[in-house]
Amino acid sequence: MSARKIAIVGAGQSGLPLAIALQARGDEVTLLTNRSPDDIRAGRVMSSQCMFDASLQIERDFGLNQWEHLCPPVQGIGLTVPHPGQAGAKLIDWAAPLTRYAQAVDQRIKMPGWMDLFVQRGGKLVLKDAGIADLEELAERNELTVVSAGKGEIVRLFESDPLRSAFDQPMRALALSYVKGMTPRTPFSRVCFNLIPGVGEYFVFPALTTSGPCEIMVFEGVPGGAMDCWAGVKTPEQHLQQSLSILETFLPWEAERCRHVELTDDMGILAGRFAPTIRRPVGRLPSGRIVMGLGDAVCVNDPITGQGSNNATKAFKVAHSSILARGDGAFDEAWMNASFERFWDYAQHVVRWTNSLLTPPPEHILNLLGAAGQCPSLASEIANNFNHPPNYFPWWTDAAECQALVARHMAASSAGSLAGAAA
Ligand SMILES: Cc1cc2nc3c(=O)[nH]c(=O)nc-3n(C[C@H](O)[C@H](O)[C@H](O)COP(=O)(O)OP(=O)(O)OC[C@H]3O[C@@H](n4cnc5c(N)ncnc54)[C@H](O)[C@@H]3O)c2cc1C
Repeated sequence: MSARKIAIVGAGQSGLPLAIALQARGDEVTLLTNRSPDDIRAGRVMSSQCMFDASLQIERDFGLNQWEHLCPPVQGIGLTVPHPGQAGAKLIDWAAPLTRYAQAVDQRIKMPGWMDLFVQRGGKLVLKDAGIADLEELAERNELTVVSAGKGEIVRLFESDPLRSAFDQPMRALALSYVKGMTPRTPFSRVCFNLIPGVGEYFVFPALTTSGPCEIMVFEGVPGGAMDCWAGVKTPEQHLQQSLSILETFLPWEAERCRHVELTDDMGILAGRFAPTIRRPVGRLPSGRIVMGLGDAVCVNDPITGQGSNNATKAFKVAHSSILARGDGAFDEAWMNASFERFWDYAQHVVRWTNSLLTPPPEHILNLLGAAGQCPSLASEIANNFNHPPNYFPWWTDAAECQALVARHMAASSAGSLAGAAA
């Protein structure tokens, strides 16, 4: 089989691993991206990028886990819902260990590191903000052009798919604060997920940033609500104060952990919003040539479930294996659609589960989350499915199945405690 000529536009969580993996098998890869490694290192944080074991394993398999030994592990997931009628009290509060840890390596470390690796191995890295004319040129010169440009303007080339996109507007006002000095959670580190009905969500977990270990605070404000409060914030200090004031108002147990926090750096903050959107995987250029979308370019989720980097990694793996399986065959429209559908077999569940958390939860989900507080095995199942969200189905959206799941776990746990009492 001959080496293939492939262009990739966008050096992020999906494009870089694809570039490095194809380079390793001898393909002629051009990687075009709009920010240099130094720009990214010195720039603003882009994500909270928590990745679960299945995605971390893909990185390990491709030799892309350079920071694993430096990054603090996320050992579990916890859920807290404040009591609506009693200030400072909790209605739901549980935590469960993950079977295998998750990790979040600041993309300001990871992306420049991988770009350097690609270049050191002889890769062609072009720094340019690609427009349609650039895509035309790349598509003419290469057998395949992959657009992995995240939320960049260029991805509008891919038509949005109304049947697969549940929303046409942002569902949360997002903000990030990277901090040091937070009191750790014991006995195991975790994503502390706080759900404030009608207001939004706050989650926080350990990570690795450019200056070492840190905690990443993620705010998801319901639009127009009390946590949609970043418009007037001008300076990093104000951003941190706004973060802390949200915690003081709604989540005093989280505020308590933050008595001594400071920002990791002035660029350790972000605020913005975007609409979760699924696009068609094939982009047609004015000339009629086609390009293929990958990662957020065609499947962008709200960060509420922390799945975007995980999805991007899984999308990379599917695209990589589709390219390998194609042998010397043409990368035509049918092949692009088939490759995306293989990814969608998995991602549709992630999207459906993520979207379900952006609207008020139905009663069976409230019962499920409450029951997990009484039943560690149920809490464990909910927590560990973050690693593979298809496992939430059918019960996440089927009230009868959900009740049956809760009943099974409750019965097993009371049988276990009866046996324990008898022994
Ligand atoms: C607030 C927030 C929190 C998040 N938290 C998590 C989390 O905890 N866990 C998780 O899994 N995911 C999380 N995500 C999502 C995750 O970061 C993304 O889904 C993931 O990075 C997508 O990878 P990608 O390769 O598709 O795009 P990106 O990683 O965004 O890469 C796109 C690349 O394309 C480049 N580019 C853009 N336009 C052009 C152009 N015209 N020409 C050339 N280059 C271009 C960009 O500079 C960038 O390098 C979060 C996102 C946000 C916003």
